[in-house]
Amino acid sequence: MEKLHFDSICVHDLNETLTTKPHQLPIYATSSFDFVNLEQGEEIFTGRQNGHVYGRYGNPTIDAVANKIAALETYGSELEGLGLMTSSGMSAISTLMMGLLQSGDSILAQGNLYGGTTELFIKILMPLGIGVKLMDLNDLDLVETTLKSDATIKMIYFETPSNPTLDCIDIENMVALAKKYHKITCADNTFATPYLQQPLILGVDYVIHSTTKYLNGHGNSITGAIVGTDPVGMKRVWTALKLVGTNCNPFDAWLTYMGMKTLPLRMDKQCANATALANFLSKSDKVLKVNYLSLDTHRHHHLACKQMKNFGAMMSFELHGGLEAGRKFMNSLKLCSLAPTLGDVDTLILHPATMSHINVAKSIREQNGITDGLIRVSVGIEAIEDLIQDMERGLS
Ligand SMILES: *Cc1c(COP(=O)(O)O)cnc(C)c1O
Repeated sequence: MEKLHFDSICVHDLNETLTTKPHQLPIYATSSFDFVNLEQGEEIFTGRQNGHVYGRYGNPTIDAVANKIAALETYGSELEGLGLMTSSGMSAISTLMMGLLQSGDSILAQGNLYGGTTELFIKILMPLGIGVKLMDLNDLDLVETTLKSDATIKMIYFETPSNPTLDCIDIENMVALAKKYHKITCADNTFATPYLQQPLILGVDYVIHSTTKYLNGHGNSITGAIVGTDPVGMKRVWTALKLVGTNCNPFDAWLTYMGMKTLPLRMDKQCANATALANFLSKSDKVLKVNYLSLDTHRHHHLACKQMKNFGAMMSFELHGGLEAGRKFMNSLKLCSLAPTLGDVDTLILHPATMSHINVAKSIREQNGITDGLIRVSVGIEAIEDLIQDMERGLS
């Protein structure tokens, strides 16, 4: 090209030659992608050739994360996972629903879903004509009767383990019923991650994640993911993502990508710490009850043994003395942070009755085991001695 003027040099990229491959995944901060010529543009736009077009449709940084999560969710099987990243866990759920459901369809789900998910169903999907039926999904007779009698149900949506009592859903049973009645299944695998549990391999159709939590692990981005194995269904979900604009941004995707490198290391340590902490708390006379899946007092201990590789790092416990005891306990901790998230490398505690579940009526909270004295812990990777010391301070 002829010599450019000052203004043109400012605008144009003079570094056209590719360097050697970057060792770390680059952040592609670009809204669109250049075509070498019109013919290539047409090939890529029509999908005959691979390549990127426009950032909302896909981006190499974002695709790298989505492909990694899909590979982990199907690891060890013959399945071909297809992944998409979204702007948050909530947008993963809403994008999935917009891609797969229509007005007149219904969702069957458990009552103790993540609070935002229940709110999304009731405040957004119901007014759009999508029905929602909430029930105990472990009551298989009730589920089967419902599937038999309600032809509008198109999807069974569940979360296992669930928040904050760690109740589990038997994935194999749910899949068997769904297949019998030709329903789509979707599991929120945020709490377990593919390292501990792989719903797709057990026959679930779609997995969603709040990758904000364990997959990122460091609490520095909000992102979500959808993984499925049916190319037709995933194309519909991608179309919804592209048209509603629920795409992830490259920087947050990159943070998630970096965090995921240590997922097994973090999870191993977090599970070990959680087991030790659950044992410690169960022995205290100030603690009424501990909800942790390694304990055989948990009603879903055996189910967790069946479908999970370890028990995860979420737990909750109840103090004698209700709300007042909980307040004193939490205000006296020095190491654990009081924060409304989970899955980070540092230990986080939360009081469901006044924080995550404040919008849920007390009677419904109690029905789901969320009493005023219940404290939720997302166990981190600190030295267990320091964690126990902090908890001892709280208990005394
Ligand atoms: C946090 C969370 C969500 C929502 O994810 P965001 O990334 O906050 O939008 C959904 N499901 C579960 C189980 C969660 O913990």
